[in-house]
Amino acid sequence: KGAKQPKPDWIKIKLTTGDNYQDIKSMMRSKTLHTVCEEARCPNIYECWANRTATFMILGDICTRACRFCAVNTGMPTELDLQEPERVAEAAESMGLRHCVVTSVARDDLKDGGARIFAETVAAIRKRLPLCSVEVLIPDFLGDRDSLEIVMNSKPDILNHNIETVERMSDRVRAKAKYRRSLELLKRAKEMQPEIPTKSSIMLGVGEEWDEILQAMDDLRAVDCDILTLGQYLQPSPKHLNVEKYYPPEEFARLKEEGMKRGFSHVESGPLVRSSYHAHEQVKSAANA
Ligand code: SF4
Ligand code: SF4
Repeated sequence: KGAKQPKPDWIKIKLTTGDNYQDIKSMMRSKTLHTVCEEARCPNIYECWANRTATFMILGDICTRACRFCAVNTGMPTELDLQEPERVAEAAESMGLRHCVVTSVARDDLKDGGARIFAETVAAIRKRLPLCSVEVLIPDFLGDRDSLEIVMNSKPDILNHNIETVERMSDRVRAKAKYRRSLELLKRAKEMQPEIPTKSSIMLGVGEEWDEILQAMDDLRAVDCDILTLGQYLQPSPKHLNVEKYYPPEEFARLKEEGMKRGFSHVESGPLVRSSYHAHEQVKSAANA
């Protein structure tokens, strides 16, 4: 464990609230919905919401896992809410979303890991907002093939599953997840629906080496992953994993080049980049690839 790293200037952001920011916030409360944008205190919230992109977290806000970088609460999950897909779609409609990301906690307590609710949510959004692109950011469903197939059959515009970190750091960083299992999921998704772009993300600063990042990129390309996002890990609280390194913007730029050289159709790389950041543009570039 290294000494605590001071936060560099490039990670601090100007907060500019958009006009409808408060309205959206109160609507979320009234529909008892959770957005990652809010829960993860995402630094991009004003920009994303103004650009009509948001990330909903379905299947409750309590996770059966406890990854050491993640701010989501761990414990006994809430009962399954069958009306949730419709409420998410209503909220997406009233926000006038152009790109909607749907993600969830890991529901290892459910037989299908929540896959059906994912699929129903995609369908409900499609019905209300036919022009809105829908990206699903899914958990690994413990490697269950049928669960993945349920999600793929709902035909999301992007199938996103994060490897989060390099292979060596995986066990420390992501309790209960497995690096190879995540790669296998991405591979299967491509086999099931080759025309749906796949996407993954690595957060930097948890102790990985430069060459290991490049290796992770190679591993992702080996399973035909199309889109890559690279962002800086920020410690949500002192209890969470330490930040070992803050990557300067130049290094993010170099990593973007490395990614493009390897054939990703889109690489989003920068200190504040999150899995769903500028996601709308990623759909476009994947479609053009
Ligand atoms: Fe929400 Fe993702 Fe944008 Fe952050 S980057 S505000 S989580 S949509
Ligand atoms: Fe957080 Fe996902 Fe890990 Fe659960 S599985 S603790 S939501 S990163």
